[in-house]
Amino acid sequence: MASSVVIVGGGTAGWMTASYLKAAFGDRVSVTLVESKNVPAIGVGEATFSTIRHFFNYLGVEEHEWMPECHATYKLAVRFEDWREPGHTFYHPFERTRVVDGFPLTDWWLQKKPTERFDKDSFLIGSMCDAQSSPRYLDNSLFDSTFERGEEYRTTLSEQNTQFPYAYHFDATLLSKFLTRFGVERGVRHVLDDVVDVVLDDRGAIDHVRTREQGDIHGDLFVDCTGFRSMLVNKALEEPFISFQNHLPNDSAVALRVPVDMAERGIRPATTAIAQEAGWIWSIPLFERLGTGYVYASEYATPDEAERTLREFVGPAAENATANHIRMRIGRSERAWVKNCVAIGLSNGFVEPLESTGIFIIQNGIEQLVKNFPGGHEATDDQLRNTYNRQAAHVMDGLREFMVLHWYASGRADNQYWKDTKTREIPDGLAERLEQWKVKLPDQDSIYPHYHGFESYSYRAIILGLGGLPVQPLPVLGKLDGTAADREFQLVAEQAAALVEKMPSQYEYFAHLHGLP
Ligand code: FAD
Repeated sequence: MASSVVIVGGGTAGWMTASYLKAAFGDRVSVTLVESKNVPAIGVGEATFSTIRHFFNYLGVEEHEWMPECHATYKLAVRFEDWREPGHTFYHPFERTRVVDGFPLTDWWLQKKPTERFDKDSFLIGSMCDAQSSPRYLDNSLFDSTFERGEEYRTTLSEQNTQFPYAYHFDATLLSKFLTRFGVERGVRHVLDDVVDVVLDDRGAIDHVRTREQGDIHGDLFVDCTGFRSMLVNKALEEPFISFQNHLPNDSAVALRVPVDMAERGIRPATTAIAQEAGWIWSIPLFERLGTGYVYASEYATPDEAERTLREFVGPAAENATANHIRMRIGRSERAWVKNCVAIGLSNGFVEPLESTGIFIIQNGIEQLVKNFPGGHEATDDQLRNTYNRQAAHVMDGLREFMVLHWYASGRADNQYWKDTKTREIPDGLAERLEQWKVKLPDQDSIYPHYHGFESYSYRAIILGLGGLPVQPLPVLGKLDGTAADREFQLVAEQAAALVEKMPSQYEYFAHLHGLP
């Protein structure tokens, strides 16, 4: 059993890993985290995916303990603006599709189109987002009590039997601070220093890392959380990096932190992704400010142009905000775990943050690390490491497909950037799936076949919302009695209206949680 773990890097990945390992192993495994005083963490990464609740649940931390401290809010969906054409909006909700007479309601929608909004006709969450509704009442109960079950024991991604209706937005820097305290209180040794060298043993594994001021740090297992630098796995261990850039050209971002008066503006419980000339802008409402940024392809826009576009988008509130320019490395390491070192976070891989998957990838990496933790027997450990690497690669490759779909299936082709999204090389396997989806919307058997966090309902929402893939209703639906589907559409409308009426607004909910009048 590896009894000492050394984590290099103190961004979101480093501290999520350190706190999770402590929650899992307590004092049975020692954890040291080395973090540079000079190299800042990336500072973005503020929207999450609905599986994040398993992370906090595993740590045994309640929302009221961490959310106010991290200026967190709820996220029920991603809201896409201008992706089909300027002025068009749709939501990709955290909500599974209802099934009527054996067919998903979104299939029935394609047949019947009660209105032009598949998202509002088929799901509750779109209406809640428009109304800025909180998913919780002021007494903390959820809008739908069926989701409250199963939280009494510690859960991981594989226990995700229901689609929990929300994720979080939070300030990544504040979350790292919260997790630092959590980890240190439970025994994580925190070293503030630069790692200046990674020293290998005669078998090519990592023997120790050398710090600038505090000497050598030895361990059984090393975790590379050094961000895009990937100092341990890609550099020291020379593991090749597989770029996804030929499929996903957005390689740059510029971000701003913008103070806004949330009492006046309200807090929509969604991350908004607004299509632009050379990429897209994200807008993430936290309790006291907006996190916003422009993700773009450097082949189509310069950093100055991108910053100008972003500042114009934000308006006067951006005047005093400092721009954070980031170069992104899109792709994954061939193997995430090499010898006695596993890369978690940006050091392992990244796809653009369009569906907020960065932290999900980290969470998956940590959970799999615990599940495949080495026991000290070489042959067994080799197999566990292979299992880990297979699973980690599937997650990244599945996410690549889902991201490519967003560009390929969007209705826009109004400049070179958008035209190129339709002709760019697509990953193996996706071309065939696209042909299938034109005839029959995605189901669990026709999407990327390995776990990558997304279910078929997400693919359906994206295809129906983006509008660029020519899809058609299933022929059989015209021959079936659709009365039950009509009733279900009516029920969705009634339930959505009732929720909008009775739920407090997000602002009210969080003002209450923060103890504001
Ligand atoms: P970093 O934050 O870069 O941390 C690296 C750490 O390594 C730092 O602590 C640094 O000090 C340390 N380090 C580096 N070199 C050394 C050294 N020599 N010695 C010691 N320490 C060292 N994810 C989401 O889930 N949702 C989002 O909305 C989202 N948006 C994003 C937007 C953009 C533009 C980008 C680029 C990423 C986004 N992500 C998002 C991804 C998310 O930001 C990252 O997954 C997350 O922040 C984890 O980063 P990290 O800890 O791997 O790396």
